[in-house]
Formats: sequence, structure tokens, C-alpha cells
Amino acid sequence: MLSRALVLRVAEWPPFKRWIMHSPMTRGLINRFIAGEDLDTAMEVTRRLNAQGFLVALDYLGEATTRPEEAANAARQYITLLERIADTGVQACISIKLTQLGLELGYELCRQHLECVLKTARNLNNFVWIDMESSRHVDGILNLFMEMYPRYPNSGTVLQSYLYRTPNDLERLLEVGARIRLVKGAYAEPREVAYPDKRSVDRQFKVLMERLLERGHEPAIATHDVRLIQHAKQYAAQLGLRKEQFEFQLLYGVSRELQKQLVAEGYRTLIYVPYGEQWYPYFSRRLAERPANLYFILRNLFRK
Ligand SMILES: Cc1cc2nc3c(=O)[nH]c(=O)nc-3n(C[C@H](O)[C@H](O)[C@H](O)COP(=O)(O)OP(=O)(O)OC[C@H]3O[C@@H](n4cnc5c(N)ncnc54)[C@H](O)[C@@H]3O)c2cc1C
Repeated sequence: MLSRALVLRVAEWPPFKRWIMHSPMTRGLINRFIAGEDLDTAMEVTRRLNAQGFLVALDYLGEATTRPEEAANAARQYITLLERIADTGVQACISIKLTQLGLELGYELCRQHLECVLKTARNLNNFVWIDMESSRHVDGILNLFMEMYPRYPNSGTVLQSYLYRTPNDLERLLEVGARIRLVKGAYAEPREVAYPDKRSVDRQFKVLMERLLERGHEPAIATHDVRLIQHAKQYAAQLGLRKEQFEFQLLYGVSRELQKQLVAEGYRTLIYVPYGEQWYPYFSRRLAERPANLYFILRNLFRK
């Protein structure tokens, strides 16, 4: 079995990256996970998903920004996106990465951009999810989130069940009443900070999910794992939660039948919709989650 770290390393190999980005053979798989490269296409996809009963979180792709102009541009793009959502009346919030807003360039620069985005969202009655990134950034992201949250309760953040530290972070966030999205975690992490085996990650997800359903404010359970989803449904029912008091969140293009089934059963279901030109790092994480995606690509590569 290929490890996540290995797939992510292969994905960074320049000839492989070039081939993926430009070969017509990989287009289908890319289009499955990425809604499009521009805002108009993303809005079209959002309208279609809304019509099928889904809520949407739009992610303008980009991360690990290395130049201040790029960070400023990303913030502007998110402001335009929020305005477009308001003008068109689609049902969508946004999901952002703080390294895209310049976290690696400095806390203060990132804070200023984040505040502009949060303020616009608050004025337009919208909501901002702050994605979680690699373990190097967890403190920076949580600190910024905690600093902003009292003034911008129209925001929530993400916790990853693969990190050993997450039970403590969960308690800290539950204490302030913030909305929390629970995920397993998508980055290559050293065993000093994260469980290396899937079984432990899943076990911790289950424990954290129960706690989140018990204590969380509109908790978001973000997984495609049918066993965990089944358990969430049962546990929420046991707690007496109504279906609109919590949310399932899934990624665009992943487990599409499951997505439809959740809506048909009356569960509040949000689809995370990524768009933009900087799609490669997001796409490579989707490859790393499921070796079958990579095998599909490699088969085509060697068939050339
Ligand atoms: C809405 C949402 C937001 C997220 N935000 C973040 C974030 O901020 N930070 C972060 O680190 N991670 C984030 N993730 C990713 C997450 O950490 C996992 O990497 C991802 O969801 C895969 O794990 P899983 O829970 O679906 O379980 P798994 O056990 O990995 O998968 C369960 C089943 O789902 C299907 N599946 C899962 N992934 C794929 C795929 N790529 N292609 C095809 N089928 C697949 C397969 O059928 C698989 O058997 C997010 C996930 C979701 C759904």
C-alpha cells in the first residue's frame, strides 16, 4: 500500500506534475475534484448543487503564498467571491487557507487580510471556514482564529483527528462556542505529531465526533467514511439532535452517491467546492487519500 507521504512526494516530482497538469488523459479525474478554474464556473456548479439540496462552501484554491502581492490578491478574490454570492443569492459560504492569505509571510500581514475577509462576510451575513493545514501551522491558525472569533463569530475552523494534540484543541474551541469541522487530516505528518496508522486516526475521529456532537455548536462532520457517518447518525439521534442541528460535509466529486443519499434522508449536507488555477496541491492530496486514484493515473501514464 502506498503511503500518503510517498504519494505526496511523487506528486511533487516535476515531470510527473507537468504530465498531470497538461495531459488530456488526466483531465477527467481533475474535473471530478475541481469545479473549474474561474469564478463563473464555480457559481454555475454552486447553483446546480443548491438545486439538488446541498449547501456549498467555496474554496478559491491557493496556499503557501510566498509573495505579499499574492496574499493581497487572494484576499481580494475572496471579497469578490463573497459579493458575488450575495448578488446572486446562491446558498454558499467560503472556506479559506491562512497560508494563502500570507501566514508564512507574517502573522500581522495575514491577520489584516483575514480581518478584511471576515468583515466583508459579516456585513454580507455570510460565514467563513478557516481550513486546517500542515501541523507546522496549527498553532498559527488556531491563534489567529481565537483572536478573531470574539469579533467575528461568523467563522469556524477545522480540527484533524490524526493529530495527537487535537483532543486538547477541541476542548479549547468548544469552550468559546465556535463552529468546528472535524476531519481526519490530509497532510503528510511525522509520527511524532500524528497517528501513522488509519485505525488510530479513525478511532480518534469517532471519540472526537461524539464529543463534538454532544457539546458542539452546529458541528460539522466532514468525512466520506460510511461507518463513521452511520455512527454519527445514530449517536446524534441518541442525543436527541434534529437533522438540521448538525451538518455532514463532503468534498466535491468524492462519494457522490453518498452525498445524494444524505440529502435524500433529510440531513443537512454541505459540499466543499474548490475552484481556481492553483489546483495542483489540493488535487495531489486527493490522490494521496486514495491510492486507486493514483493507480488510475499511472495506468494511463504507462499506456502512452
Ligand atoms: C468538507 C471537507 C473539508 C476538509 N477540510 C480539510 C482541512 O481543512 N484540512 C485537512 O487536513 N483536511 C481536510 N479535509 C480532508 C480530510 O482530512 C481527509 O483527507 C479526507 O476527507 C479523506 O478522509 P475520509 O474522512 O473521507 O476517510 P477515508 O477513510 O480516507 O475515506 C473513506 C472513503 O471515502 C472515499 N474517499 C475518500 N477520499 C477519497 C478520494 N480522494 N477519492 C475518492 N474517494 C475517496 C473512499 O471511498 C474511502 O474508502 C476535508 C474533508 C472534507 C470532506
